[in-house]
Amino acid sequence: MVRGGPLQGTYRLRQFHFHWGSSDDHGSEHVVDGVKYAAELHLVHWNPKYSNFAEALKQPDGVAVVGIFLKVGKTPKPEMKRILEVIDNIKTKGKEAPFQNFDPSILFPKSRDYWTYHGSFTTPPCEECITWILLREPIEVSPDQMAKLRSLSINAETEPARPMVDNWRPPQPLKGRVVKASFQ
Ligand SMILES: [Zn+2]
Repeated sequence: MVRGGPLQGTYRLRQFHFHWGSSDDHGSEHVVDGVKYAAELHLVHWNPKYSNFAEALKQPDGVAVVGIFLKVGKTPKPEMKRILEVIDNIKTKGKEAPFQNFDPSILFPKSRDYWTYHGSFTTPPCEECITWILLREPIEVSPDQMAKLRSLSINAETEPARPMVDNWRPPQPLKGRVVKASFQ
């Protein structure tokens, strides 16, 4: 669940996923004063005042996404380990692996400072239903951990290898959107 800040009521976690680049100098979908990060984690929540996730997608206050930047550094977050371990079991398209009893809040950085704005999904059809909450402080990952994300493939096991990299959407025009900060 997530609540508080710009949100009215409590939103329920639906899924989380990452976006990353083909090298460590890019891969995030948000860019902060020109700075791109190696990856970006999205925790997708929906507003349970609507009957289900699909309905929530049609509403301006339907979805809240918490975004966390991943930066390559010297003190990688040990909490990333479980996610990266399970990746070995889902290297190619269509594979699944059990992943239970995971509390994604262990991935959060220390600071709860954030930026917020109203915007869209970054994957088609890019529904305009999201309250974005983007944490200011990145979490650190190791070069090996980034390499592990890049070791995934978008092809099925029997198809020619196509690495899953650069699955990020570039920044879009502001179009009069206001970005607010929770800090000064
Ligand atoms: Zn995303």
